[in-house]
Amino acid sequence: MRYSQYLLPTLKESPADAEIISHQLMTRAGMIRKVAAGIYSYMPFGLRAIRKVEQIVREEMNSAGAIECLMPMANPAELWRESGRWEKYGKELLRFKDRKETEFCMGPTHEEVITDIVRNVVKSYRQLPLNLYQIQTKFRDEIRPRFGLMRGREFIMKDAYSFDLEEADADKAYEKMYQAYRRIFKRCGLNFRAVEADSGAIGGSFSHEFMVLAEAGEDGIVSCDSCEYAANIEKAEIRVTDSLAAAPTMALEKVSTPGQKSIDEVAAFLKLPTAKLLKTLIVQTSNEELIAVLLRGDHELNEIKLLNLLGGDWVLLAEEADVLRATGAPTGFAGPRGLKIRIVADHAVRQMSDFVIGANEKDYHFSGANLERDFRVETFADLRQAVGGDDCPRCSGKLESWRGVEVGHVFKLGSRYSESMNATVLDDQGQSRALIMGCYGIGIGRTVAASIEQNYDENGIIWPMPIAPFQVLIAMLNPDDVEIREASENLYAELLALGIDVLLDDRDERPGAKFKDADLIGIPLRVTVGARGLKEGQFELKARAGGEVEMLSIAEAAASLKARVEAAL
Ligand code: ATP
Ligand code: MG
Repeated sequence: MRYSQYLLPTLKESPADAEIISHQLMTRAGMIRKVAAGIYSYMPFGLRAIRKVEQIVREEMNSAGAIECLMPMANPAELWRESGRWEKYGKELLRFKDRKETEFCMGPTHEEVITDIVRNVVKSYRQLPLNLYQIQTKFRDEIRPRFGLMRGREFIMKDAYSFDLEEADADKAYEKMYQAYRRIFKRCGLNFRAVEADSGAIGGSFSHEFMVLAEAGEDGIVSCDSCEYAANIEKAEIRVTDSLAAAPTMALEKVSTPGQKSIDEVAAFLKLPTAKLLKTLIVQTSNEELIAVLLRGDHELNEIKLLNLLGGDWVLLAEEADVLRATGAPTGFAGPRGLKIRIVADHAVRQMSDFVIGANEKDYHFSGANLERDFRVETFADLRQAVGGDDCPRCSGKLESWRGVEVGHVFKLGSRYSESMNATVLDDQGQSRALIMGCYGIGIGRTVAASIEQNYDENGIIWPMPIAPFQVLIAMLNPDDVEIREASENLYAELLALGIDVLLDDRDERPGAKFKDADLIGIPLRVTVGARGLKEGQFELKARAGGEVEMLSIAEAAASLKARVEAAL
């Protein structure tokens, strides 16, 4: 591709709404343009990276025995009613009507459509196992679309669905996808962990999330420093210790804490570690009840665990007026002593002694508080998020914590859809049985964005070779110089003939501007063709990832570049 004839609109400034590096750099490097909130156009340069990831995904899915198909974006409501999700899915499901008033939705995922296909086409166990996948545009009306392609409303996903008759075969299908995912993300050059997302009712773990380690990640994950255990923080179990708190040594004392509301503020004000404070959260449940939830000051609430304990559809932090009603004080001074509402606490609270609690009075706390003596708790449960330094729930190791971007998800569905939608086949005894399904997703755009989160510097993107939009950039320094032009054009033609993805910067720009753009768009190998090198019969080669500048002889340049590209794929 010739830069002068390409469309690669680089920008000096990031857009105001771009909070994270990948969003900033993808916009500045001319990869994406926003059309509406969470809806983007893929510009030519961005599309090339997307296609590279898709190609890797395709190759690995095909070699794992999955078969590619393509399903529609518009899904009839009728199918979604059969599965029960038309009512359940909530506002992320974008619903619409056609001119005949027939209801549809934009597919956010395709279990319904694929199950409909399979129930109509697959009649016998002899047609199994079956794994169908597509790479397709999804629509989810996300409440907070943000971070560019990381959390869009319209986005490209690879989704696969496996169908088996026997549990053991379904587990094999899952394992195959799990291994294929490992290969895919490895080939994309990503540093990732496969974490347990749900260790549950079925026994063992039949849901794994593939997390790219990056500060910008929306998910917290923990992994053990000595065994294989890794889990999403939402799911990570806490090892409960039986040890009880030390006996109280302090008397309860009311202390003035003017204007000090948050745990951090109160801890700093009283010069105590946050673990010596009790966090009292007033929450409201979906059945209108107000409940006090106690945690050690340095711990965070895990809402999923709380919901599991309390039941109902949701829990939310109570509104200011409700906090005032329940505690008699504004938010920031709540404590368990004297509360009339139900009190539940995390297990860690049981080990605390001589700590600080809110006094349920504006600008006051109590110090020297102790369980039983000063207040009672109705129920203790695992309610907190795991943190780095926690004991591993499986072995004697310690947990480390990371931020992660979920790029892929493998899930054993069981017969939830096949039963509700009546997808059955005849087994070898002629008996009709429901299929066992698995579903497997990869966010294509999110994977590209996550790669940038791991590969950049202050000047721009540093593409790993396997997903780089171009593999080699030729910076033609002075296009008016006949010798430079000729040498550049020759190298360009040779590389094209060798099947290298090459971008020839033949623009009428100053060298400084070319190098700046080259750094921003991050093509792995940059060859500079300038008068100085040519005098010696050489080109200058610089890897975007750093390292020494090397000289390449003109005669051997193309072959040498090809070898380097291949070595990095
Ligand atoms: P999240 O928790 O991030 O919303 P999810 O659990 O809803 O993800 P899945 O339904 O498992 O995601 O979808 C499969 C994959 O699709 C995810 O692993 C992710 O890579 C991608 N994905 C999901 N939602 C989005 C989105 N809004 N924008 C871009 N990619 C997405
Ligand atoms: Mg989601």
